Amino acid sequence: MKVLKFGGTSVGSAERMKEVARLVNDGQRKIVVLSAMSGTTNSLVEIANYLYKKNHDGANEVINNLERKYYNEVEALYSKKEYKEKGKQLIKAHFDYIKSFTKDLFTVFEEKTILAQGELISTAMFNYYMHEIGIDSVLLPALDYMRIDKNNEPDPVYIRENLGQLLNQHPKCNMFITQGYICRNAFGEIDNLQRGGSDYSASLVGAAVLADEIQIWTDIDGMHNNDPRYVENTSSIADLSFDEAAELAYFGAKILHPTSVLPAKLSNIPVRLLNTMDPKAPGTLISSKQTKDRITAIAAKDGITAIKIKSGRMLLAYGFLRKVFEIFESYKTPIDMITTSEVGVSVTIDNSRHLDEILDDLKKFGTVEVDTDMVIICVVGDLVGEKKGYAFKIFEALKEIPVRMISYGGSNHNVSLLVHVNDKKDALRALSAKLF
Ligand code: ADP
Ligand code: ASP
Ligand code: MG
Repeated sequence: MKVLKFGGTSVGSAERMKEVARLVNDGQRKIVVLSAMSGTTNSLVEIANYLYKKNHDGANEVINNLERKYYNEVEALYSKKEYKEKGKQLIKAHFDYIKSFTKDLFTVFEEKTILAQGELISTAMFNYYMHEIGIDSVLLPALDYMRIDKNNEPDPVYIRENLGQLLNQHPKCNMFITQGYICRNAFGEIDNLQRGGSDYSASLVGAAVLADEIQIWTDIDGMHNNDPRYVENTSSIADLSFDEAAELAYFGAKILHPTSVLPAKLSNIPVRLLNTMDPKAPGTLISSKQTKDRITAIAAKDGITAIKIKSGRMLLAYGFLRKVFEIFESYKTPIDMITTSEVGVSVTIDNSRHLDEILDDLKKFGTVEVDTDMVIICVVGDLVGEKKGYAFKIFEALKEIPVRMISYGGSNHNVSLLVHVNDKKDALRALSAKLF
């Protein structure tokens, strides 16, 4: 069994959906995980924002534009009258539901329900299309098996058991379709795996069914060696180890959701990144195999806040770092980078929701400085310590760029550097020019 995930652009229009149907229709048993059509989740976020502000006119305008787009796609997707009618009813039902939220109280619960509509619509549309072209596909409702626990972590046992039961109900079926991104939380409410979470869904589903392979189909021919949105002439990487892929995803390579590699890694299931626009391109194979002694790729993670705690008196005392870390822990705020010196310690966080409280608590230990709008630039590869020259090449590339923090040696796979967002593009380009 394979798991194939198609992202927003891959199902972004009726034509693209037809192409996906052609790609998956090879008779082999598979689960197809779909995102919402591109732009949809952004529009749903916009609708929710208007509803929080009780701006019903604003919400209705976005809702009506989106609804119109879907009627056009339905018209273009199906050829038979019966399916055009089914498609229209589907769209009407979902949009009537979305509109019902403009009349009532609006909370996080309603917001998450609205955000789930994109994947619910795309999968139902695609399933009808498969039926129209004569394929007996079965829709597996993600809300019946995908679940996160009280800490917002996926619950693999629940997922495996419930997905397994659903699959067992259709022993003869070869073509399952399911929603990416959406799930239920520990209270049974509709929730999601965060933006871009369909990759995570695919990986969790792949691990739950012990798939032979997980394929992530998107709009580019695999993982590139730098961010193609900022750097020209990047190139696709043929193979990545799970660790390299996890670092790149976590540190900003948008092609993969930050935590989507882990479930595949734990079950040792290869992940292939493929291009819907160029299906013959080899793409990237992510597996346990590590290509030795290379700088593989560069990624950048935005929205970073750096905090420096200076305390001449206490830093060298044992227990000081523990106290600092406990403050971050108590606000459930993960630390990404850390550097130390005799008089201070610097850390970075990407979640600044509790920044003010954290700073208040830290001030008990020393003076505190904060830099916002920072970016972590992450150089990933097999950077074994015995080899000379990696650090030199990286610093040489960045000789014109102010670097706020450097972290090297935490693993063999990563050198992280903190720069201001205004220097991000120059840093990425300079590194590409020097390293590749
Ligand atoms: P999907 O909608 O299919 O999930 P995404 O937009 O989430 O697709 O991810 C694909 C995009 O990720 C590419 O179009 C590309 O612009 C961006 N991207 C950022 N960094 C990288 C990288 N290192 N390699 C490939 N793509 C990257
Ligand atoms: N539709 C969701 C989003 O836009 C999930 C995804 O595409 O992966 O974030
Ligand atoms: Mg994505």
